[in-house]
Amino acid sequence: METGRAWIEIDRKALGHNVAVLRSLLPKGCELMPALKANAYGHGAVLVGRELNKMGVRAFCVACVEEGVELRKGGVEGEILILGYTHPLQFPLLEQYDLCQTVVDYAYARELQEYGERVAVHIGIDTGMHRLGERCEQVDRLCQICDMQNLVIKGAYTHLCVADSMAENDRIYTRQQAEAFYHTIGVLRNRGYQIPRIHLLASSGVLFHPELGGDYARVGIALYGACGDMEGYRQAVQPPLRPVLSLKARIASVRELQPGESAGYGLAYVAEKPARLAVLAIGYGDGLPRVLSGGTGEVLVGGRRAPIAGRICMDQTLVDVTNVDGVQPGDVAVLIGSQEGETVTVEEMATRAGTIPNEILSRLGGRLGRK
Ligand SMILES: *Cc1c(COP(=O)(O)O)cnc(C)c1O
Repeated sequence: METGRAWIEIDRKALGHNVAVLRSLLPKGCELMPALKANAYGHGAVLVGRELNKMGVRAFCVACVEEGVELRKGGVEGEILILGYTHPLQFPLLEQYDLCQTVVDYAYARELQEYGERVAVHIGIDTGMHRLGERCEQVDRLCQICDMQNLVIKGAYTHLCVADSMAENDRIYTRQQAEAFYHTIGVLRNRGYQIPRIHLLASSGVLFHPELGGDYARVGIALYGACGDMEGYRQAVQPPLRPVLSLKARIASVRELQPGESAGYGLAYVAEKPARLAVLAIGYGDGLPRVLSGGTGEVLVGGRRAPIAGRICMDQTLVDVTNVDGVQPGDVAVLIGSQEGETVTVEEMATRAGTIPNEILSRLGGRLGRK
């Protein structure tokens, strides 16, 4: 990456650390099923999947069939569960690439059945998020799904929607979701249906409700070490999870401005005194949120914080380095990560941008190199 304009660096040691910490938190018998969707939250799905394979991880989840195919083509091994909808015309890919499909509701189960070939599935069970999964109250329909001859039932799962909240009513809701899930699974198993593996915990579930159990934990954001803004996180996890990703960009040019001169689109930046701007070779086209314009965001240059100056462009970003000595074209700026002891976390960037780390990370663009 000696020549790159803007790139992502993945810290293999931090990833290994997070795998070990999360495994230590998992309930007995529960295994990691990392979420590699959205290009592994921007980290690079094949890169991360292969590293996790080396660490003994044997199950993954993705959002869509294309993501599953990409992992297989990249040599990732183990179970791969598609969490979302796959179009019936794409069903042949499931067998071809050994992918496991979520049954997103009863109507969808019938489409899978009518396809006519055997397909491996996990049954989605809706316990109160009301997004995907057949409703847990619909026991007869769930039994009918289990009776469908072409569905090879590998497991069943639900998703918790307020597991990250410490509020008492949210904790009660989470407990009720878990009870409804286990009750439903119990009924199905009592009626003689085989459901080999069940799961309900994502990151916040593992951190705050590990007692809820399950055979898999579908961890995403925690694996990438970006939970630092979650209320209660610091109490829940010792040692802390470590950020896996850094985002860096090349300084293309350094320029001096006279007092009263302006810079960038809309001339939104105005030099009040003699000023120095560095032009970073990264922009909103790479996933840098444009709302960080006008000093809302800060980046690291020469180990010092430098505010973003004026409006972020598609491919370039101006930063004010008036207070940083010795900045040269070709130097590297850090947008997420550490430099000479100073740090900007993705949690900080997300807060400044009015969003969550998951959104920032998953939108980091394909134009960025990854190493
Ligand atoms: C994205 C997703 C996950 C992972 O969520 P994190 O909060 O990042 O751990 C788990 N399960 C489902 C169904 C998801 O959609």
